[in-house]
Amino acid sequence: MVNNSDADWFHLDVMDGRFVPNISFGLPVIQQIKKVATKPLDVHLMIVEPDLYVEAFKKAGADILSVHAEACTHLNRTIQFIKQQGMKAGVAINPHTSLSCLDYVLEDIDLVCLMSVNPGFGGQKFIPQTYRKIEQLRKMIDAKGLQVDIEIDGGVTEQNAGQLIAAGATVLVAGNTVFSASNPTEVISKLKLA
Ligand code: ZN
Repeated sequence: MVNNSDADWFHLDVMDGRFVPNISFGLPVIQQIKKVATKPLDVHLMIVEPDLYVEAFKKAGADILSVHAEACTHLNRTIQFIKQQGMKAGVAINPHTSLSCLDYVLEDIDLVCLMSVNPGFGGQKFIPQTYRKIEQLRKMIDAKGLQVDIEIDGGVTEQNAGQLIAAGATVLVAGNTVFSASNPTEVISKLKLA
């Protein structure tokens, strides 16, 4: 269904039960998805010590790899490592985390994933302070003349998609909104038109 939809990427949430209070799936599942997916795999690591697994996620088929700023003691090093492996590099931040942690890495990355719910579970309600965060990040990126995607992850719906794009977002992640719909393909198309 996703292959045949207007969706651009597969967004895969990897949870380790330590960085977030939930466990999802890991490398073997991603390897299997890679075999059937006709679109890039955007892998979002919600795990501690992601450096230990960067090469493994590349081998499993990740095209874009995002790590959490909160989980990386040496974020610059982790970003360089991801890029050396031939993947696009993303940095994700939790709802309470300030954009200032991106000040000195923004030039080096392809994507910022703004968590608009607390990571760990699907189907949560969108945190409204995210709008202000998107606008501020848009200004930071434009002021530096960069082409960094702003990805919104959590609580994205047909109702708020337009406002998110207007605020400056370029990538919308939708899980529950798509997969609980009676016609998922149609919902994806509507989100793309937002
Ligand atoms: Zn995610």
